[in-house]
Amino acid sequence: MDDLNPGDVNLMADERQASDQFSHLLQAVRKRVNKQQFATWFQRTTLISWSNGELVMGLPNRFYKEWFHKNFRSLLARAAEEIGQAPVQIRFEVAETPAIALDEEPSPEPGGPTSPVEPTVGQAGSLPFTGSGPEDLPLRFHEHYTFENFMTGPSNRVAYAAARAVANDPGRAYNPLFLHGSVGLGKTHLLHAVCRQFHQRRPDQRICFLSCEEFTNEFVQALQHHNLEHFRQRFRNVHLLVIDDIHFLVGKERIQDEFFHTFNRLYQTHHQIVVSSDAPPSEIPTLQDRLISRFKWGLVAQIEQPEMETRMAIVSRKADLLKIEVPNDVVEFIAANFRNNIRELEGALLSVSARAGVAGVPIDLSMAQEALEPSIHGGRPPMSLDRITETVASHFQVKISDLRSKRRSRSISLPRQVIMYIGRETTNLSLDEIGDHFGGRDHSTVLYAYGRVKDKMEQDASFAAEVERLLVRLGAR
Ligand code: ADP
Ligand code: MG
Repeated sequence: MDDLNPGDVNLMADERQASDQFSHLLQAVRKRVNKQQFATWFQRTTLISWSNGELVMGLPNRFYKEWFHKNFRSLLARAAEEIGQAPVQIRFEVAETPAIALDEEPSPEPGGPTSPVEPTVGQAGSLPFTGSGPEDLPLRFHEHYTFENFMTGPSNRVAYAAARAVANDPGRAYNPLFLHGSVGLGKTHLLHAVCRQFHQRRPDQRICFLSCEEFTNEFVQALQHHNLEHFRQRFRNVHLLVIDDIHFLVGKERIQDEFFHTFNRLYQTHHQIVVSSDAPPSEIPTLQDRLISRFKWGLVAQIEQPEMETRMAIVSRKADLLKIEVPNDVVEFIAANFRNNIRELEGALLSVSARAGVAGVPIDLSMAQEALEPSIHGGRPPMSLDRITETVASHFQVKISDLRSKRRSRSISLPRQVIMYIGRETTNLSLDEIGDHFGGRDHSTVLYAYGRVKDKMEQDASFAAEVERLLVRLGAR
């Protein structure tokens, strides 16, 4: 602490004051909304800054942002008035879940005094963070980010199994463990789960969890304060070092050197290293070859985009966690329309739940469609045979591989015909192109299938309704 100058101390005092104000504000909000609304909307808000009468709130995604804009500005203004902070200008920003710093050191702010404001203040609203660590210092794990709550499928099973193995048998199973995948696919979730499980099994061992940015900031700090020795001691004496979003090492030579030495030290002493990144080691630009090769010593596991079933499982699990009832067709609708990023999937669920909460009615499909209409039509990928196939396969509970095989049993051929029908109705693909999708069937097969489905829809009202529902789910209606 000797290194702090008076400016830093003032800054810290301001941050703490802002943080206190923000928790009072949330308390005032809590009195004005019902329990479900508070849980749905306010528990995940964070404080980015609050100074000179301007409050900047961090929200998990753009659905929240829109919703807050429309619905909570005056509520927040009134709450601010109640706690004696009016007038206040309120701005909303999309901010990731607050960064976690699990640290054995009693520093006043986990990221150090000059680390960015976002990760260290604003915890007041982040109720899901719990836990306590060695020497009774707060370890902040996201309560929901556990192995149990991580839904698996072919897209993420390897990453999940590896993460579990590492948590149970650190330093031996896979060291280092390198998880990569694009944004919103659960990397941070798995890292939290590793830390939590590790901590449960080895409560007195030291864990250090930080984002690559925090690692870098601390290093820069240490350089500025000629404190490198201390920095090294800190990171080289942990049992589990977890660094999230390591791709931020791009173009930072000195910190890469430093990380390399930290890495070697931990590796030699059989302590576990886990990192995440948005790309595999060899595709991170400017990453030193020696680091690339170190990362490859362990296990490099990719998290891919989850398939329909996994997405549905995730929506259901999140709904359970939030204690909201969501009918199956709504689960399917959400899973079919938000494919690339689980955070958006969650955002969609929350918007639907909020709409139901505000209207005081149970969630149903038409309400979900209405609530999600703008976001779906804003950013939905164009209709594709893959998307149709996935949705239809899930609806009829058949495997995609069977649909694309030569199998002719009725349980397979009807869904296959439905895909061809929807494909012809909703895409610009030619009959031949649609046929190709099913292992080179020709255009007459597709035409036949189209006719079959059309006839059946005319004769069988419940089948027609089923196809209609599929079209709705796909956003084609
Ligand atoms: P990333 O770090 O890869 O950008 P996150 O770990 O922040 O992604 O995940 C975004 C959100 O999606 C989190 O709320 C997380 O719980 C959720 N999520 C992602 N994958 C899964 C999964 N397989 N099961 C349950 N939740 C998931
Ligand atoms: Mg992340």
